[in-house]
Amino acid sequence: MVNLEDYESEFIPKHRKKSKKKSKKSDHKHLYEPCLVHWLIQDSSHIMKGERCSVCGKIGDVNFFETEPVEGKPRLCKLLGGKEILEKYPDLDIYDYETGEQIEK
Ligand SMILES: [Zn+2]
Repeated sequence: MVNLEDYESEFIPKHRKKSKKKSKKSDHKHLYEPCLVHWLIQDSSHIMKGERCSVCGKIGDVNFFETEPVEGKPRLCKLLGGKEILEKYPDLDIYDYETGEQIEK
């Protein structure tokens, strides 16, 4: 018979806290508010519209492909780049997707 408590204390390190914030289980309903998300993908940075919990800072859904109708061409949409996203939402703060830290514009 293996005592599970002994097993855990022996094989699972006590200091498991990876990061103070992230290891915490959320005890609230996330309150998502619109924001911009900075995401570094293969060394190129992207700015996307997303949402972030104003309570714990968790990044929620991110809109990877934001499109906008092309003027004068009703059936066409163009993909918005980071610069256009920034121009479209000048009031929103930018947060890093990985760290959740706010990024200066
Ligand atoms: Zn939250």
